[in-house]
Order: sequence, then structure tokens, then C-alpha cells
Amino acid sequence: MGGTFNPPHNGHILAAEHVRQALGLDRVLFIPTNLPPHKRLPDGSATTEQRCDMVRLMVAPYDWAVFSDIEVRRGGASYTVDTLRALHQKGYDNLTLIVGTDMLMSFDRCWRAPEEIVRLADLAVVARDTHDRPVLRRKAILLEKKMHAHISLIDCPVLTISSTEVRRRGIFEEMTPPPVAAYIRKNRLYQKGSE
Ligand code: NAP
Repeated sequence: MGGTFNPPHNGHILAAEHVRQALGLDRVLFIPTNLPPHKRLPDGSATTEQRCDMVRLMVAPYDWAVFSDIEVRRGGASYTVDTLRALHQKGYDNLTLIVGTDMLMSFDRCWRAPEEIVRLADLAVVARDTHDRPVLRRKAILLEKKMHAHISLIDCPVLTISSTEVRRRGIFEEMTPPPVAAYIRKNRLYQKGSE
């Protein structure tokens, strides 16, 4: 599960936990992007190091959740296809890429080498909102036909929450795990004025 994790929040861990249980995954790697290829991080964002620290704190209580700095160490723009190639070379050859609604919708238009991605990994999609489900189903069918993707749509209780909303509203205690909220406060991240 890749992400900017700016900051990581309860929706990320909840989504990952449901996918893991539904598909019987051994582990979920949480991979913070170095430079996201699809967006500019807003002013007032946490640094890459801070985003990594927060993901480490978020995954610490779970034995199935693993922090990976593979994209940060590679540097540059973080293309998912490069990450999947590298994981395959390390011997991980049974991979599932966990993505949310927005990411699936833009998958064949905005991602680098989507055909190769779906050869290297199955996709597991978690809906962020119940309204998303019919749209996701149509998109999944299209991608399965167009590129022979293997896609699982995972039904799970959704937390309609985004990192943007967490930052804007400053709802760290409510929406991020306690150690992450404490880290944000201690380091004075996302002060008023951040987008
Ligand atoms: P993010 O905001 O940190 O979120 C990480 C993932 O969790 C996303 O798929 C997101 O889905 C999902 N998510 C967030 N909140 C959720 C919630 N409440 N319930 C369920 N799921 C939730 O990360 P991001 O900036 O969207 O990036 C996702 C990954 O896609 C990154 O690894 C990025 O590098 C990769 N990507 C790669 C390319 C490329 O290779 N060309 C292009 C674009 C993205 P949503 O999609 O719904 O936000």
C-alpha cells in the first residue's frame, strides 16, 4: 500500500486490515512515496523523513504491517511500477497492490506502465464511500477486459476521511493513531495555513 501519508490516518490502517483479512495476505507493506508522481505536496506538508516516522508509528502495533522505505531510498519520483519490479527482484512474486477509489479511477490514464503493473500484481480496491461501489465495479470490469487485470473490490466499513481533511481540520487526535497525533503535535506539523 503506497501513499503520501501526509499524514497517515485511521482510514489507511482500517482499509489495509480489511484487505488483509479478506484476501488472506501475510503482510501489508506501507510504502511512503518519495516524490508522488501525481501531485505536488502542499506547502506546510511534513517532510519525507517525518512522513516515514509517522508511518513507522502507525504500523508499530500490528505484526502484519511493515514499514518500507523502498521508494524513499530509490529517490526521485516514485513510480509504482518501479517499486513492484524491485519487490519482484527481491523475491516477492505474489503481490497485491492496495489502492483506493481515486487511484483506481485514474489508473489507466495517469499511471506509468499500468499494463505492467497488473502483470506484476493483483489489485485490491477499497471504496472510500458506499456511493463509489457501482462506479468502481464498472471500472474494474473495464480494466479486467482491457488489460487482463485481476481486481478484488473489498467491501469494508469505510471511513470517509482523507489526509487533506485531517490536515485542514486539525483532527489529529480523532483521526490518526495516538502516537501519530502526539508526533504531529510535538513537531508542530500542519500548523494553520497548511492546505
Ligand atoms: P494517500 O492519499 O496517502 O492514500 C494512500 C491510499 O490509501 C490511496 O490509495 C487512498 O485512496 C487510500 N485511502 C486514503 N484514505 C482512505 C480511506 N479513508 N479509506 C480507504 N482508503 C483510503 O496516497 P496517494 O497520494 O493517493 O497515492 C497512492 C499511491 O498511488 C502512491 O503510492 C502513489 O505513488 C501511487 N501512484 C502512482 C502513480 C504512478 O506510478 N504513475 C500515479 C498515481 C499514484 P484514494 O485513491 O481513494 O485516495
